[in-house]
Amino acid sequence: MSARGHRLGQEEQFCRHPQSNRLAHGSFIPHWAAIEHMAAFPVEDRSSCGTGGLAGLSFYVTMHFSTLHPVRLSKTRFLAGVQCLKRLYLEVHAPELAAAVDAERQIMLDMGKEVGEKARERFPGGQLIKESHRQTEAALHRTADLMRDVSVPAIYEGAFLWQHIVVRADILERVDGDRWRLIEVKAATKVKNGYLDDLAIQELVIRGAGYVLEQCCLMHVNTEYVYQGGEVDLSQLFTIVDVTAAVRQRRSQVIRQVRLMKTMLQRPEPPAIEPDDHCHTPYTCPFWDHCTSGKPARWIHRLPGSRQSIRQLAARGIETIDEIPVTVPLSLAQRRVKDNVEWISPDLLTHLQALEHPIHHLDFETMMPAVPIYANTRPYRPIPVQWSNHIEMEDGSIRHDEYLAEQASDPRRELTEALLRSLGDRGSICVYSEYERHVLLSLGELFPDLRGAIQRVVQRLWDLLSVIQQHYYHPAFNGSFSMKSVLPALIPDLSYSRLVIGHGALASATYKKMVFEETDLVERLRMATALREYCGRDTWGMVELRRILLAKAMHAYSTQARGSDS
Ligand code: SF4
Repeated sequence: MSARGHRLGQEEQFCRHPQSNRLAHGSFIPHWAAIEHMAAFPVEDRSSCGTGGLAGLSFYVTMHFSTLHPVRLSKTRFLAGVQCLKRLYLEVHAPELAAAVDAERQIMLDMGKEVGEKARERFPGGQLIKESHRQTEAALHRTADLMRDVSVPAIYEGAFLWQHIVVRADILERVDGDRWRLIEVKAATKVKNGYLDDLAIQELVIRGAGYVLEQCCLMHVNTEYVYQGGEVDLSQLFTIVDVTAAVRQRRSQVIRQVRLMKTMLQRPEPPAIEPDDHCHTPYTCPFWDHCTSGKPARWIHRLPGSRQSIRQLAARGIETIDEIPVTVPLSLAQRRVKDNVEWISPDLLTHLQALEHPIHHLDFETMMPAVPIYANTRPYRPIPVQWSNHIEMEDGSIRHDEYLAEQASDPRRELTEALLRSLGDRGSICVYSEYERHVLLSLGELFPDLRGAIQRVVQRLWDLLSVIQQHYYHPAFNGSFSMKSVLPALIPDLSYSRLVIGHGALASATYKKMVFEETDLVERLRMATALREYCGRDTWGMVELRRILLAKAMHAYSTQARGSDS
């Protein structure tokens, strides 16, 4: 159907400012096929729709939404709505119910910001729209001015408004005169499907606002780039992928989504959407605690393992882990969670007694800069900067060795030599996960003269995590075998909650800040102390875990022996 059939002949009343939504009042019955039909054409081709081009499209959509007192959407809100309509509703109408951004998420946001700023350098001479998200009107005007100024080769954080949707574009590069390339920057290492939604809403708004987008691209970090020292080669650090076709294919879907979101936002109640694994994709929703507050402690979605199988169980009406029928096949970890009792494998004692003294307990802390800092490193390649080693002697006494690089120079040679001295050539080396093995092997690759010694160290590694996963379970693990779950479950005094640094991501961010940003010596000292305390907690935790498991295994063994004697 031609869009002409829906015109009311009022385009002449449309405000001609390129980013204005203001229209004269009028009645209108929306027809979404027509809107989608028009939106499917590039701005420069819309005259063929017989609608007066863009103004016609704006008119139809705006009249529909304005009669419903529309809420202004943003790119962030749109993406929230793509994840879950209820999330969008709550973000607009009850934002106070959201959990605060946690430290881990904040670190990711900070990393994204750092990468975004670095990416701008790839487009020199560009102008940054400095006005914040709270200064939208000023940002819109400044952007419109710069778009008109043909001497401006690129705009960073440009603001656009169309049909009550505001977007900020990471980078717009002027290709030629009034033709532009839209570039969305991601700190990620590859193109992901969800990023296309991000670009699609921007493309819709920017084109809707009257600009010509020749290309839509994603710019992500290239992990194949090997930094040679000196200036970072930005053309190598970033990969730019043309996703124009995929973005344009999404256009009509985005229009439908926007329509649905705007209509939904007018309702007096949020949509009745039940929490499940969609709440964690792509990120955990800030309303998770709110939405799950009434759920039972043994809620089916708290079962670890395959999300698909859990979805299937939930679809069968199984609400709690205890309701899972015995006939349902479960993984070992799921079986432990379902049984919900302490379980000690008959082989646990054998494994624990296989260790040889002196028993080392080793943990590395690493940083993974998106923009490489040291020569011959790649983006996000883990750089060990700290280790802790608690050593249990045969008589039960403990020695603690540790290393923390506090200077900005590459610490890996010094760190490796100090570690080899601490580990010596005797005794088992207890670690928690395969991570330490990978770090050691990468150090062996880096230093051929130390490779032999490092390989001998690798042969002495003993993974406490895999032993616990296969031979022990406690109901307080709640299905998680991470050190942060296991340690407080068995030794409540060794919880991480009272430490200044409570997880690896924060340790990494704190380290980077201490060495490369902080100038206040007292603050640097405070950070160094917190880092030592955190890394030391991991290795001391392994000592205590091993000891308590040994005591439990011995008790179980003697109980079993007494039972078979009687
Ligand atoms: S927790 Fe889940 S159901 Fe609740 S608003 Fe967030 S995504 Fe939607």
